[in-house]
Amino acid sequence: MEKISEILEGIQTLGIAGHVRPDGDCVGSCMGLYLYVKENYPQIQTDIYLDHPKEVFGYLDRMDEIKMETAGEKHYDVFITLDVSSKERIGLAGEYFDTAKKTVCIDHHISNLGFGQINYIKGGISSASEVLYNLLDEEKISRSVAMAIYTGIIHDTGVFQYSSTSPDTMRIAGELMKKGFNFNKIIDESFYQKTYIQNQVMGRVLAESILLQHGKLVVGYMKKKDMDFYRVDGKDLEGIVSQLRLTKGVEAAIFIYESQPQTFKVSLRSNGEVDVSKVAAFFGGGGHVRAAGCDMSGSMYDVINNLSDQIAIQLKD
Ligand code: AMP
Ligand code: MN
Ligand code: MN
Repeated sequence: MEKISEILEGIQTLGIAGHVRPDGDCVGSCMGLYLYVKENYPQIQTDIYLDHPKEVFGYLDRMDEIKMETAGEKHYDVFITLDVSSKERIGLAGEYFDTAKKTVCIDHHISNLGFGQINYIKGGISSASEVLYNLLDEEKISRSVAMAIYTGIIHDTGVFQYSSTSPDTMRIAGELMKKGFNFNKIIDESFYQKTYIQNQVMGRVLAESILLQHGKLVVGYMKKKDMDFYRVDGKDLEGIVSQLRLTKGVEAAIFIYESQPQTFKVSLRSNGEVDVSKVAAFFGGGGHVRAAGCDMSGSMYDVINNLSDQIAIQLKD
């Protein structure tokens, strides 16, 4: 596949889905493709499935058309996943992936082995949104599509900060800007802005964080009872691990929160020396060299110790 048009030509129905707990790149790439097809191929009956995207993405067009649950048996002509690293990670509509006549996987995770019939996976690229951009016809990209793709790129590059940001990423962001939207508003409101409570919780996690491995690893945590006290969920805790990573001297940062009693959602970040995707994969998760995640169960101290031991193995190399 060179261009998405090769896939869309002549089909009648299309399904689009992202991963569980959709992040900015997931929402941006899925909505980017959805809007592109709606605008340029109105004859295709297109559905998009995303599991409760955050309200901060409300500035994107047609967000109200997102389906948050499936409805009976369906056989799409084509089903496309974006930003999904493995089949089990399809957040919603995995059943429709299985029953589709043709499946397509568009992604940028190095851990992705290619679970579609057609795979367009570019491991080194900043975001699934940037991968998608390369499949679209430039002149068919509207302002609405550009806003969605731009959103995905800024979220997965930490606003052009991470090492996956390439000259191509910047060039594409520049092309998108030409479509004329308020990019500083998107960056502030979808990426940096926090509610008062979210800031309070981040402050608390930072205050209670611990340094391990001679200051090369920093760990932050939040227990369920504290999340209940502040009335926050996992979505409110995004960005905490990025702040931990910026601690001077650390090679890796871990943030864990208790999603269910004795079950933890683990976020890992690295400054380069440690490949955190290996650590996440060891515990059944995945991701990228510098950003990865997994789910673990047990006592909080066991979870931290087990993660710390795996980081230590790489720090010794
Ligand atoms: P997060 O820390 O949740 O922002 O995730 C960082 C990266 O790791 C993302 O690119 C995810 O795709 C990946 N990731 C997070 N959790 C998992 C998981 N349980 N299994 C596989 N990949 C994951
Ligand atoms: Mn993602
Ligand atoms: Mn991504």
